[in-house]
Amino acid sequence: MKTKLLISACLLGILCRYDGKDNLISQGDLALLKDCFELIPICPEQLGGLSTPRLPAEIQPDGKVLRNDGFDVSTEFQKGAEEALKIARLSGCKLALLKANSPSCGNKMIYNGKFDGTLIPGKGVTANLFEKMGIKTYNEQEIDKLIKGE
Ligand code: SF4
Repeated sequence: MKTKLLISACLLGILCRYDGKDNLISQGDLALLKDCFELIPICPEQLGGLSTPRLPAEIQPDGKVLRNDGFDVSTEFQKGAEEALKIARLSGCKLALLKANSPSCGNKMIYNGKFDGTLIPGKGVTANLFEKMGIKTYNEQEIDKLIKGE
């Protein structure tokens, strides 16, 4: 039986990104992942009840998540993380491949909260919860590491 892998749905070509587009990975990477894992797609922002398309949001220095019009979507981001965690637990998943730099899915870097395109070290709301709950996270630039089990 293949190991189960939670994966950001946008990496698989699902049109769930804030602008209604995807972040599809290469066909080579997709084939590699399908060989090694049973893929379980999730989109925490949709699971949190946000619509698609939606206004972009970034994590602020105080931890709140604000849209670029100032509206607070922290509750939706938290709910999305918790629902994604439920799916991880229901499916017995201990690994996640998450979209880099996203305010939900980013596992190493996030935008600085000023909507000026600057990345800073940090984790998205879902990646942070996953790591706290013992789910190891990778991003799409770390597929080799994931497959090697590093
Ligand atoms: Fe992709 Fe995650 Fe954003 Fe959904 S929340 S669009 S899965 S990066």
